[in-house]
Amino acid sequence: MAKEQLNPMILPDSDGNFGKHGGKIGHPELAKALEELNTAFHNIIGDEDFINEMKRLQAAYVGRPSPIYHAQSLSQRGAQIFLKREDLNHTGAHKINHCIGEALLAKKMGKTKVIAETGAGQHGVALATASALVGLECEIHMGVVDIAKEHPNVSRMKILGAKIVPVSAGAGTLKEAVDSAFESYLSQLGTAMFAIGSVVGPAPYPEMVAYFQSIVGHEAREQFAQQYGGLPDEVVACVGGGSNAIGLFNAFIDDESVNLVGVEPAGEGLDKPGRHAATMAKGTFGNIQGFNCYYLQEEDGTPAAVHSIASGLDYPGVGPQHCLLKDNGRGRYECATDQECLDAFLTLSREEGIIPALESSHAIAYALRRAAELDSSKRLLVNLSGRGDKDIDYVLSKIKV
Ligand SMILES: *Cc1c(COP(=O)(O)O)cnc(C)c1O
Repeated sequence: MAKEQLNPMILPDSDGNFGKHGGKIGHPELAKALEELNTAFHNIIGDEDFINEMKRLQAAYVGRPSPIYHAQSLSQRGAQIFLKREDLNHTGAHKINHCIGEALLAKKMGKTKVIAETGAGQHGVALATASALVGLECEIHMGVVDIAKEHPNVSRMKILGAKIVPVSAGAGTLKEAVDSAFESYLSQLGTAMFAIGSVVGPAPYPEMVAYFQSIVGHEAREQFAQQYGGLPDEVVACVGGGSNAIGLFNAFIDDESVNLVGVEPAGEGLDKPGRHAATMAKGTFGNIQGFNCYYLQEEDGTPAAVHSIASGLDYPGVGPQHCLLKDNGRGRYECATDQECLDAFLTLSREEGIIPALESSHAIAYALRRAAELDSSKRLLVNLSGRGDKDIDYVLSKIKV
């Protein structure tokens, strides 16, 4: 890990902009706190001790490097399918990569607490884990509707020692949780750090989270070359806020022969407003929660209702780097519906013995479709961002076995 971890194409300018996307927060007190965070972040990524500590934890605690697995049964369809196994990380997903970075950074800044929002609870659990590890208080804001729905994750956070703040305002879900967490952060700027869950929000979050996730792509590029030779033809990842996707894409941006493919949730269909979360396909430009990007919005600019079978993809906005990669044509953004995602979930479980997260199943769904269009000499590398244990009861309620 070094400063040059991120490709220049996805580095922000000094105003936190990626092309016309991204940007800094306007609120003066928050602006000051985030400027401080930005400076601290850039200092630590040039600090050898910090990098060594992070590397040590990535290996001994998270279990990195995560392997690349050639899924030979899936590959019977045509192109060869390879899986980057982020599901095998401690806590079962890629989120632990940025949570460890954020927790170490908070500690280094002399903070005693991290604050965050969580929707389904995946980011909350990963952050509670990293906080327990490095010795920080952890305050997680979560909508009351999500608390009722995501009981196992709420229990995990409690056991890990996090404080849960239930949010009953509005719809009682992710958007209100973000507002509540920022409000709480404002009252404790001196002692706390806000630790966001994806490559979203104002500067420096998109750059910072991308940096901590970039390990996925750097490992994958080297492993692929060593174990299978050369480069894949496409790298594929699901896109919610976009952190696992940008972590993978980053290392391949300069490899012109490699297609970068993000897969968004088409939910019940792109023709049903409110019943999908396909930000790239259907979103329009504007400012959501402190940054510019394409997002699903009502006529007055308020974020639209969104839906996906995978709660981790259920966000009306998307990271500014992905918006830029769409604008300049380097990235391609595709969709998978709830039904395709369920089918892919079962296909991977039954053909390979791997139960994927419903989020990751969107990337698998695309790969299965794409593999059938290509011949067996082509190679697709898919980021399996998380494991599906959390989703098994839900899936069983949707299918006949
Ligand atoms: C949260 C989550 C996602 C979506 O977040 P990104 O920032 O888009 O990566 C994807 N997969 C899993 C397993 C998740 O928990």
